[in-house]
Amino acid sequence: MPPEFRDLSALPWLDEATPAYVYDFDIIAARIARLRAALPTKVAVHYAIKANPLQALLAAIAPLVDGLDVASAGEMDKALDVMAAGAISFAGPGKRDAEIELAIRAGVTLNVESESEGQRALAIGGQLGMRPRLAVRVNPDFELRGSGMKMGGRASPFGVEAAHVAGLVKRLIIGGAEWRGLHIFAGSQALDPAAVIETQAATVALAARIAEEARRAPPLVNLGGGFGIPYFLGDVSLDVEAIGAALAGELDQLDTNYAIELGRWLVGEAGVYLARVVDRKVSQGETFLIVDGGLNHHLAATGNFGTVVRRNYPVAVAHRMQDPPEEIVTIVGPLCTPLDRLADRVALPRANVGDVIAVFASGAYGASASPSAFLGHPPARELLVGAPAGPGHA
Ligand SMILES: *Cc1c(COP(=O)(O)O)cnc(C)c1O
Repeated sequence: MPPEFRDLSALPWLDEATPAYVYDFDIIAARIARLRAALPTKVAVHYAIKANPLQALLAAIAPLVDGLDVASAGEMDKALDVMAAGAISFAGPGKRDAEIELAIRAGVTLNVESESEGQRALAIGGQLGMRPRLAVRVNPDFELRGSGMKMGGRASPFGVEAAHVAGLVKRLIIGGAEWRGLHIFAGSQALDPAAVIETQAATVALAARIAEEARRAPPLVNLGGGFGIPYFLGDVSLDVEAIGAALAGELDQLDTNYAIELGRWLVGEAGVYLARVVDRKVSQGETFLIVDGGLNHHLAATGNFGTVVRRNYPVAVAHRMQDPPEEIVTIVGPLCTPLDRLADRVALPRANVGDVIAVFASGAYGASASPSAFLGHPPARELLVGAPAGPGHA
Protein backbone atom coordinates (compact mmCIF):
# COMPACT_ATOMS: atom_id res chain seq x y z
CA MET A 1 0.00 0.00 0.00
CA PRO A 2 1.23 3.54 -0.57
CA PRO A 3 2.75 4.33 2.85
CA GLU A 4 1.47 7.91 2.93
CA PHE A 5 -2.17 6.81 2.79
CA ARG A 6 -4.07 5.49 5.73
CA ASP A 7 -5.03 1.85 5.69
CA LEU A 8 -8.69 1.63 4.84
CA SER A 9 -9.11 -2.11 5.46
CA ALA A 10 -10.71 -1.91 8.86
CA LEU A 11 -12.90 1.14 8.40
CA PRO A 12 -16.61 0.56 8.97
CA TRP A 13 -17.83 2.77 6.14
CA LEU A 14 -15.95 0.78 3.54
CA ASP A 15 -18.88 -1.56 3.05
CA GLU A 16 -21.37 1.21 2.59
CA ALA A 17 -22.78 1.71 -0.87
CA THR A 18 -20.34 2.65 -3.57
CA PRO A 19 -19.60 4.68 -5.53
CA ALA A 20 -18.72 7.23 -2.88
CA TYR A 21 -16.32 9.92 -1.84
CA VAL A 22 -15.20 9.86 1.78
CA TYR A 23 -13.54 12.91 3.30
CA ASP A 24 -11.68 12.68 6.58
CA PHE A 25 -12.05 15.91 8.51
CA ASP A 26 -9.29 15.01 10.98
CA ILE A 27 -6.80 15.24 8.12
CA ILE A 28 -8.13 18.66 7.09
CA ALA A 29 -8.01 19.98 10.67
CA ALA A 30 -4.44 18.75 11.04
CA ARG A 31 -3.40 20.48 7.82
CA ILE A 32 -4.95 23.77 8.88
CA ALA A 33 -3.10 23.53 12.20
CA ARG A 34 0.17 22.79 10.39
CA LEU A 35 -0.35 25.70 8.02
CA ARG A 36 -1.10 28.10 10.86
CA ALA A 37 2.05 27.03 12.67
CA ALA A 38 4.08 27.54 9.49
CA LEU A 39 2.72 30.92 8.41
CA PRO A 40 3.42 34.31 10.00
CA THR A 41 0.52 35.10 12.35
CA LYS A 42 -0.54 38.15 10.36
CA VAL A 43 -1.37 35.98 7.34
CA ALA A 44 -5.02 34.92 7.39
CA VAL A 45 -6.03 31.57 5.96
CA HIS A 46 -8.94 31.43 3.51
CA TYR A 47 -10.55 28.39 1.96
CA ALA A 48 -11.38 28.57 -1.76
CA ILE A 49 -14.56 26.52 -1.71
CA LYS A 50 -14.59 25.48 -5.35
CA ALA A 51 -12.06 22.78 -4.43
CA ASN A 52 -14.78 21.01 -2.45
CA PRO A 53 -18.08 22.75 -1.72
CA LEU A 54 -19.80 19.93 0.21
CA GLN A 55 -21.96 21.75 2.75
CA ALA A 56 -21.05 19.50 5.68
CA LEU A 57 -17.39 20.02 4.93
CA LEU A 58 -17.83 23.81 4.72
CA ALA A 59 -19.61 23.81 8.06
CA ALA A 60 -16.72 21.90 9.61
CA ILE A 61 -13.96 23.99 8.02
CA ALA A 62 -15.51 27.43 8.56
CA PRO A 63 -14.66 27.72 12.28
CA LEU A 64 -11.02 26.85 11.54
CA VAL A 65 -10.32 29.42 8.81
CA ASP A 66 -10.52 33.22 8.60
CA GLY A 67 -12.42 33.53 5.35
CA LEU A 68 -14.06 31.77 2.44
CA ASP A 69 -13.45 32.59 -1.21
CA VAL A 70 -16.29 31.93 -3.63
CA ALA A 71 -16.72 32.28 -7.37
CA SER A 72 -20.49 32.28 -8.02
CA ALA A 73 -23.73 33.26 -6.35
CA GLY A 74 -24.35 29.56 -5.70
CA GLU A 75 -21.09 29.24 -3.82
CA MET A 76 -21.77 32.52 -2.03
CA ASP A 77 -25.08 31.13 -0.75
CA LYS A 78 -23.31 28.10 0.68
CA ALA A 79 -20.61 30.24 2.25
CA LEU A 80 -23.13 32.62 3.85
CA ASP A 81 -24.68 29.64 5.63
CA VAL A 82 -21.48 29.06 7.59
CA MET A 83 -19.48 32.32 7.60
CA ALA A 84 -20.09 36.03 8.26
CA ALA A 85 -20.40 38.06 5.05
CA GLY A 86 -17.45 40.27 6.00
CA ALA A 87 -15.13 37.26 5.75
CA ILE A 88 -16.33 36.16 2.32
CA SER A 89 -14.87 37.32 -0.98
CA PHE A 90 -16.35 36.71 -4.40
CA ALA A 91 -13.95 36.43 -7.36
CA GLY A 92 -14.42 35.24 -10.91
CA PRO A 93 -15.01 36.84 -14.30
CA GLY A 94 -18.45 37.46 -15.76
CA LYS A 95 -20.34 38.25 -12.58
CA ARG A 96 -23.94 38.93 -13.53
CA ASP A 97 -25.72 42.04 -12.24
CA ALA A 98 -27.93 39.85 -10.05
CA GLU A 99 -24.83 38.25 -8.48
CA ILE A 100 -23.25 41.64 -7.85
CA GLU A 101 -26.48 42.85 -6.26
CA LEU A 102 -26.70 39.80 -3.98
CA ALA A 103 -23.10 40.30 -2.87
CA ILE A 104 -23.56 44.01 -2.14
CA ARG A 105 -26.79 43.40 -0.23
CA ALA A 106 -25.11 40.68 1.83
CA GLY A 107 -21.95 42.68 2.49
CA VAL A 108 -19.67 40.23 0.70
CA THR A 109 -16.47 41.65 -0.82
CA LEU A 110 -16.41 41.56 -4.62
CA ASN A 111 -13.01 40.94 -6.16
CA VAL A 112 -13.42 43.09 -9.24
CA GLU A 113 -12.07 41.41 -12.37
CA SER A 114 -12.25 44.34 -14.82
CA GLU A 115 -12.75 48.10 -15.05
CA SER A 116 -16.27 47.62 -16.40
CA GLU A 117 -17.21 45.19 -13.64
CA GLY A 118 -16.04 47.77 -11.12
CA GLN A 119 -18.21 50.42 -12.74
CA ARG A 120 -21.22 48.07 -12.74
CA ALA A 121 -20.70 47.35 -9.04
CA LEU A 122 -20.63 51.09 -8.30
CA ALA A 123 -23.80 51.64 -10.31
CA ILE A 124 -25.63 48.77 -8.61
CA GLY A 125 -24.45 50.00 -5.21
CA GLY A 126 -25.80 53.44 -6.12
CA GLN A 127 -29.20 52.03 -7.09
CA LEU A 128 -29.36 50.09 -3.82
CA GLY A 129 -28.17 53.04 -1.78
CA MET A 130 -25.44 50.78 -0.40
CA ARG A 131 -21.67 51.09 -0.33
CA PRO A 132 -20.16 48.14 -2.20
CA ARG A 133 -17.14 46.42 -0.68
CA LEU A 134 -14.69 46.09 -3.53
CA ALA A 135 -11.24 44.63 -3.85
CA VAL A 136 -9.37 44.65 -7.14
CA ARG A 137 -8.03 41.45 -8.60
CA VAL A 138 -4.69 42.05 -10.24
CA ASN A 139 -3.48 40.24 -13.35
CA PRO A 140 0.10 39.95 -12.16
CA ASP A 141 2.96 40.65 -14.55
CA PHE A 142 4.57 37.32 -13.57
CA GLU A 143 3.45 33.70 -13.25
CA LEU A 144 3.80 30.96 -10.66
CA ARG A 145 6.72 28.99 -12.07
CA GLY A 146 6.13 25.25 -12.38
CA SER A 147 2.46 25.53 -11.53
CA GLY A 148 -0.01 23.11 -13.08
CA MET A 149 -2.29 25.96 -14.09
CA LYS A 150 -0.73 29.34 -14.81
CA MET A 151 -2.89 32.35 -14.21
CA GLY A 152 -0.55 35.32 -14.50
CA GLY A 153 2.00 36.89 -16.77
CA ARG A 154 -0.23 36.73 -19.83
CA ALA A 155 -3.44 37.91 -21.46
CA SER A 156 -6.18 36.83 -19.09
CA PRO A 157 -9.89 37.00 -18.36
CA PHE A 158 -8.88 37.25 -14.68
CA GLY A 159 -8.03 40.52 -13.02
CA VAL A 160 -6.96 43.98 -14.11
CA GLU A 161 -3.53 44.63 -15.67
CA ALA A 162 -1.11 45.54 -12.92
CA ALA A 163 -0.37 48.92 -14.53
CA HIS A 164 -4.06 49.92 -14.45
CA VAL A 165 -4.94 48.84 -10.93
CA ALA A 166 -4.00 52.00 -9.02
CA GLY A 167 -6.12 54.13 -11.32
CA LEU A 168 -9.09 51.83 -10.91
CA VAL A 169 -8.70 51.80 -7.13
CA LYS A 170 -8.88 55.60 -7.09
CA ARG A 171 -11.96 55.63 -9.31
CA LEU A 172 -13.71 53.02 -7.14
CA ILE A 173 -13.04 54.98 -3.98
CA ILE A 174 -14.20 58.27 -5.54
CA GLY A 175 -17.26 56.38 -6.81
CA GLY A 176 -18.23 55.49 -3.25
CA ALA A 177 -16.82 52.00 -2.74
CA GLU A 178 -15.34 50.72 0.48
CA TRP A 179 -11.95 49.60 -0.81
CA ARG A 180 -11.06 46.20 0.62
CA GLY A 181 -7.69 45.67 -0.99
CA LEU A 182 -5.93 43.61 -3.63
CA HIS A 183 -6.26 40.03 -4.81
CA ILE A 184 -3.35 38.48 -6.69
CA PHE A 185 -3.53 34.82 -7.74
CA ALA A 186 -0.70 33.63 -9.97
CA GLY A 187 -1.25 29.88 -10.40
CA SER A 188 -2.25 26.52 -8.99
CA GLN A 189 -0.85 23.06 -8.09
CA ALA A 190 2.74 24.19 -7.43
CA LEU A 191 4.98 21.64 -5.72
CA ASP A 192 8.27 23.55 -5.83
CA PRO A 193 8.62 25.61 -2.64
CA ALA A 194 11.22 27.87 -4.30
CA ALA A 195 8.68 28.80 -6.98
CA VAL A 196 6.02 29.59 -4.37
CA ILE A 197 8.50 31.64 -2.32
CA GLU A 198 9.56 33.60 -5.40
CA THR A 199 5.95 34.24 -6.41
CA GLN A 200 4.91 35.36 -2.94
CA ALA A 201 7.83 37.79 -2.79
CA ALA A 202 6.91 39.17 -6.22
CA THR A 203 3.26 39.41 -5.11
CA VAL A 204 4.07 41.44 -2.00
CA ALA A 205 6.36 43.69 -4.05
CA LEU A 206 3.64 44.21 -6.66
CA ALA A 207 1.08 45.05 -3.97
CA ALA A 208 3.52 47.56 -2.48
CA ARG A 209 4.09 49.16 -5.88
CA ILE A 210 0.35 49.47 -6.49
CA ALA A 211 -0.22 50.89 -2.99
CA GLU A 212 2.41 53.53 -3.71
CA GLU A 213 0.84 54.44 -7.05
CA ALA A 214 -2.61 54.60 -5.48
CA ARG A 215 -1.19 56.50 -2.47
CA ARG A 216 -3.16 54.25 -0.14
CA ALA A 217 -2.33 51.12 1.80
CA PRO A 218 -4.73 48.30 0.90
CA PRO A 219 -6.72 47.02 3.90
CA LEU A 220 -5.99 43.43 2.81
CA VAL A 221 -3.63 41.81 0.34
CA ASN A 222 -4.78 38.36 -0.73
CA LEU A 223 -1.60 36.65 -1.92
CA GLY A 224 -3.39 33.82 -3.70
CA GLY A 225 -2.14 30.34 -2.99
CA GLY A 226 -1.51 27.67 -5.52
CA PHE A 227 -0.07 25.15 -3.05
CA GLY A 228 -0.06 21.75 -4.75
CA ILE A 229 -0.34 18.21 -3.43
CA PRO A 230 1.48 15.09 -4.64
CA TYR A 231 -0.56 13.01 -7.05
CA PHE A 232 1.96 11.10 -9.09
CA LEU A 233 5.00 8.93 -8.61
CA GLY A 234 7.95 11.18 -7.84
CA ASP A 235 5.84 14.12 -6.59
CA VAL A 236 7.04 15.45 -3.24
CA SER A 237 4.85 17.18 -0.62
CA LEU A 238 5.20 20.93 -0.47
CA ASP A 239 7.45 22.30 2.28
CA VAL A 240 5.01 24.81 3.79
CA GLU A 241 7.35 25.49 6.70
CA ALA A 242 10.00 26.81 4.30
CA ILE A 243 7.36 28.89 2.54
CA GLY A 244 6.10 30.39 5.80
CA ALA A 245 9.60 31.24 6.97
CA ALA A 246 10.44 33.02 3.70
CA LEU A 247 7.14 34.88 3.65
CA ALA A 248 7.80 36.24 7.14
CA GLY A 249 10.75 38.14 5.69
CA GLU A 250 8.68 39.82 2.97
CA LEU A 251 5.67 41.21 4.76
CA ASP A 252 7.22 44.38 6.14
CA GLN A 253 7.34 45.96 2.68
CA LEU A 254 3.77 47.03 3.19
CA ASP A 255 1.69 47.92 6.24
CA THR A 256 -1.41 45.81 5.67
CA ASN A 257 -3.14 42.56 6.52
CA TYR A 258 -2.45 39.52 4.39
CA ALA A 259 -4.34 36.38 3.46
CA ILE A 260 -3.64 33.30 1.43
CA GLU A 261 -6.42 31.33 -0.21
CA LEU A 262 -6.07 27.61 -0.60
CA GLY A 263 -8.35 24.94 -1.95
CA ARG A 264 -6.56 21.82 -3.04
CA TRP A 265 -3.86 21.84 -0.36
CA LEU A 266 -6.41 21.96 2.48
CA VAL A 267 -8.74 19.20 1.31
CA GLY A 268 -7.17 17.22 -1.54
CA GLU A 269 -5.32 14.62 0.48
CA ALA A 270 -8.24 14.17 2.89
CA GLY A 271 -10.49 12.51 0.33
CA VAL A 272 -10.71 9.05 -1.15
CA TYR A 273 -12.99 7.93 -3.98
CA LEU A 274 -14.37 4.40 -3.65
CA ALA A 275 -15.78 2.35 -6.50
CA ARG A 276 -16.71 -1.33 -6.54
CA VAL A 277 -15.55 -3.90 -9.06
CA VAL A 278 -18.49 -4.95 -11.23
CA ASP A 279 -16.64 -7.07 -13.76
CA ARG A 280 -13.21 -8.47 -14.53
CA LYS A 281 -12.22 -9.25 -18.06
CA VAL A 282 -9.12 -10.05 -20.03
CA SER A 283 -8.73 -8.53 -23.46
CA GLN A 284 -5.72 -9.36 -25.60
CA GLY A 285 -3.76 -10.27 -22.52
CA GLU A 286 -4.65 -7.12 -20.55
CA THR A 287 -6.77 -7.45 -17.41
CA PHE A 288 -9.51 -4.87 -16.92
CA LEU A 289 -11.35 -4.15 -13.69
CA ILE A 290 -14.63 -2.43 -14.46
CA VAL A 291 -15.91 -0.44 -11.50
CA ASP A 292 -19.22 1.29 -10.76
CA GLY A 293 -18.07 4.86 -11.30
CA GLY A 294 -15.46 6.70 -13.31
CA LEU A 295 -15.11 10.01 -15.06
CA ASN A 296 -18.73 10.87 -14.33
CA HIS A 297 -17.68 11.15 -10.66
CA HIS A 298 -13.96 11.79 -10.86
CA LEU A 299 -12.96 13.51 -14.05
CA ALA A 300 -9.57 14.57 -12.66
CA ALA A 301 -8.45 11.01 -11.86
CA THR A 302 -9.12 10.02 -15.47
CA GLY A 303 -6.75 12.76 -16.61
CA ASN A 304 -9.42 14.86 -18.27
CA PHE A 305 -9.43 17.91 -15.98
CA GLY A 306 -6.60 20.23 -16.91
CA THR A 307 -3.83 17.70 -17.40
CA VAL A 308 -1.71 17.40 -20.51
CA VAL A 309 -0.40 13.89 -19.93
CA ARG A 310 -2.63 11.28 -18.27
CA ARG A 311 -0.96 9.74 -15.20
CA ASN A 312 -2.35 7.43 -12.54
CA TYR A 313 -3.65 8.76 -9.27
CA PRO A 314 -2.62 6.57 -6.33
CA VAL A 315 -4.96 3.57 -6.20
CA ALA A 316 -5.36 0.53 -3.96
CA VAL A 317 -7.64 -2.44 -3.35
CA ALA A 318 -9.29 -1.07 -0.23
CA HIS A 319 -9.60 -4.34 1.74
CA ARG A 320 -6.09 -5.47 0.88
CA MET A 321 -3.86 -2.47 1.34
CA GLN A 322 -1.20 -4.46 3.20
CA ASP A 323 -0.91 -7.15 0.53
CA PRO A 324 1.79 -7.28 -2.12
CA PRO A 325 0.86 -6.69 -5.76
CA GLU A 326 -0.07 -9.81 -7.70
CA GLU A 327 -1.16 -8.59 -11.10
CA ILE A 328 -1.15 -5.67 -13.51
CA VAL A 329 -4.63 -4.28 -14.15
CA THR A 330 -6.30 -1.39 -15.89
CA ILE A 331 -9.23 0.10 -13.99
CA VAL A 332 -12.05 1.64 -15.98
CA GLY A 333 -15.45 3.08 -15.13
CA PRO A 334 -18.79 2.00 -16.62
CA LEU A 335 -19.06 4.79 -19.20
CA CYS A 336 -19.16 4.08 -22.92
CA THR A 337 -16.07 6.09 -23.74
CA PRO A 338 -12.38 5.16 -23.77
CA LEU A 339 -11.74 8.33 -21.75
CA ASP A 340 -13.23 6.59 -18.70
CA ARG A 341 -9.97 5.16 -17.35
CA LEU A 342 -9.18 5.51 -13.65
CA ALA A 343 -5.84 3.68 -13.67
CA ASP A 344 -3.69 2.45 -16.48
CA ARG A 345 -1.69 -0.77 -15.93
CA VAL A 346 -1.14 -0.61 -12.17
CA ALA A 347 0.26 -3.37 -9.98
CA LEU A 348 -2.29 -4.42 -7.34
CA PRO A 349 -3.27 -7.39 -5.21
CA ARG A 350 -5.99 -9.37 -6.95
CA ALA A 351 -9.39 -7.69 -6.81
CA ASN A 352 -12.52 -9.68 -7.45
CA VAL A 353 -16.05 -8.66 -8.32
CA GLY A 354 -17.49 -6.92 -5.24
CA ASP A 355 -14.15 -5.61 -3.97
CA VAL A 356 -13.66 -1.88 -3.50
CA ILE A 357 -11.04 0.15 -5.34
CA ALA A 358 -9.79 3.28 -3.57
CA VAL A 359 -8.49 6.31 -5.43
CA PHE A 360 -6.53 8.56 -3.07
CA ALA A 361 -5.80 12.30 -3.23
CA SER A 362 -9.42 12.77 -4.24
CA GLY A 363 -10.68 15.43 -1.82
CA ALA A 364 -10.34 18.38 -4.23
CA TYR A 365 -11.87 18.92 -7.66
CA GLY A 366 -13.68 15.60 -7.49
CA ALA A 367 -17.46 15.28 -7.38
CA SER A 368 -18.23 18.93 -8.07
CA ALA A 369 -15.74 19.08 -10.94
CA SER A 370 -17.09 16.06 -12.81
CA PRO A 371 -19.85 15.65 -15.42
CA SER A 372 -22.19 13.61 -13.22
CA ALA A 373 -25.08 13.75 -15.72
CA PHE A 374 -23.00 12.20 -18.52
CA LEU A 375 -24.38 8.72 -19.30
CA GLY A 376 -27.06 8.95 -16.63
CA HIS A 377 -25.50 6.85 -13.87
CA PRO A 378 -26.32 7.71 -10.24
CA PRO A 379 -24.08 10.33 -8.60
CA ALA A 380 -21.40 9.38 -6.08
CA ARG A 381 -22.36 9.63 -2.43
CA GLU A 382 -20.29 12.05 -0.39
CA LEU A 383 -19.54 11.23 3.22
CA LEU A 384 -17.68 13.32 5.76
CA VAL A 385 -16.06 11.45 8.63
CA GLY A 386 -14.16 12.76 11.62
CA ALA A 387 -16.10 16.06 11.71
CA PRO A 388 -17.19 17.56 15.03
CA ALA A 389 -20.79 16.56 14.28
CA GLY A 390 -19.76 12.99 13.57
CA PRO A 391 -19.94 10.81 10.48
CA GLY A 392 -22.83 10.63 8.10
CA HIS A 393 -23.31 14.36 8.33
CA ALA A 394 -23.38 14.73 4.54
C1 LIG B 1 -9.32 28.02 -7.84
C2 LIG B 1 -8.85 29.18 -7.08
C3 LIG B 1 -8.21 28.99 -5.85
C4 LIG B 1 -7.91 27.64 -5.28
O1 LIG B 1 -6.88 27.05 -5.97
P1 LIG B 1 -6.19 25.72 -5.39
O2 LIG B 1 -5.18 25.38 -6.41
O3 LIG B 1 -7.25 24.70 -5.25
O4 LIG B 1 -5.61 26.06 -4.07
C5 LIG B 1 -7.83 30.10 -5.15
N1 LIG B 1 -8.07 31.34 -5.62
C6 LIG B 1 -8.68 31.56 -6.80
C7 LIG B 1 -8.90 32.94 -7.26
C8 LIG B 1 -9.08 30.50 -7.58
O5 LIG B 1 -9.67 30.72 -8.74
